[in-house]
Amino acid sequence: MTATSIDAVSARAAAIKPSATLALTARVRELRAAGQDVIGFAAGEPDFTTPQVICDAAVEALQGGMTHYVPVPGTPDAREAIADRFRSRNGIQCTANDIIVSNGGKLSCYLAIQAMVDPGDEVILPTPAWLSYKPMVELAGGAVVEVPAGPEQQFLASPEAIAAALTDRTKLVIINSPSNPCGTMYEAEQVRAIADVIAGHDRAWVMSDEIYDQLIYGDREHVSFGALPQTADRTITINGLSKTWAATGWRVGWACAPGQDGAVIKAMSRLQSQSSSSITSFLNPAIVAACTNTNAEVEAMRVSFEGRAALMHELVSAWPMVTCPAPAGAFYVFPDISGIFGRTSPGGRLIESAATFAEALLEEASVAVVPGEAFLGCGGNHVRLSFATDDDSIRSGCGRVQAWLEQLKG
Ligand code: PLP
Repeated sequence: MTATSIDAVSARAAAIKPSATLALTARVRELRAAGQDVIGFAAGEPDFTTPQVICDAAVEALQGGMTHYVPVPGTPDAREAIADRFRSRNGIQCTANDIIVSNGGKLSCYLAIQAMVDPGDEVILPTPAWLSYKPMVELAGGAVVEVPAGPEQQFLASPEAIAAALTDRTKLVIINSPSNPCGTMYEAEQVRAIADVIAGHDRAWVMSDEIYDQLIYGDREHVSFGALPQTADRTITINGLSKTWAATGWRVGWACAPGQDGAVIKAMSRLQSQSSSSITSFLNPAIVAACTNTNAEVEAMRVSFEGRAALMHELVSAWPMVTCPAPAGAFYVFPDISGIFGRTSPGGRLIESAATFAEALLEEASVAVVPGEAFLGCGGNHVRLSFATDDDSIRSGCGRVQAWLEQLKG
């Protein structure tokens, strides 16, 4: 008897949906390959090239023969450079032993959740949230407890709401600030108040995903949970090369967790040793270069993003029937498009959800945005637009949307 394809796949794998943003990015690539002039606001990746000094360090290491296995959590130099950056920039007291480098920040999050969450554990997630956290928690057998936070509260969960969601089964609270998809970030006193709540619980840790912590606009202050005395020994901080250094394709992320004698990092190392082993060996010197020698390049990219944030916010705010909070960090705006629901697009499609909005916009105006349903919470009233693209594309893409919206009927 031949097995059917359903039999071949575990129930666990069958239940997982592919990443909606990666699927949309692939669709944009396909349409462009077919000759369509698509303006893409969907991809969450900087359009800049990775700073030369980072590329040079990798090439030099490769040409110098660094092509063999390296220690699973990263080379001592790379781990020390990351620890030094966490100490000096984030105020997190850690050593190289408290760091593990993995194949992308996504894998860092996945391994952290695998290392910490048992079946039956609860993980608190303010929503809308990055769409990979929930599947990751479910793959570990945990249950996500959503704390919805809408635009009326800048998409930021209050300490009271987090306190109300804590139970004796809570293991982890996931905080992502600045936020993908919302582009907002917690103020210093909000971080402190949430840290107090978590510190008052018997066993809860924070997974603080700070992958956008270098992309902050205005004079806002970023505070790390790992730097606060009340949560320093129960925080796992995530970061990596992708966003700060325009290096999404390099697949380099890292985690830092000094608490409980590095027990979480050791557990992640064991999991990584039985799955992916280390990252590509010759990328370790590139991490050292990124962490020690790129301040000017990183700041120049941040300044560009700040200008684009203002431009995109201004243009989206002018769209009819749409409201859009100003981004505080990361490279996303997350406008509320629910005022359009019930109307018909110029091409005759009924817009009744963010998904139908995004589909009609792509087909009729050739502009790609991410529908918000996948981000949970009130996401279904919103779409995510990334401004990690040049000013001309922002201007012409937003102009296309404006013209399309002005032709809506009903
Ligand atoms: N965390 C957040 C909030 C993200 O938006 C992303 C990427 O989109 C990641 C983690 C993972 O980044 P990477 O795996 O490219 O390092």
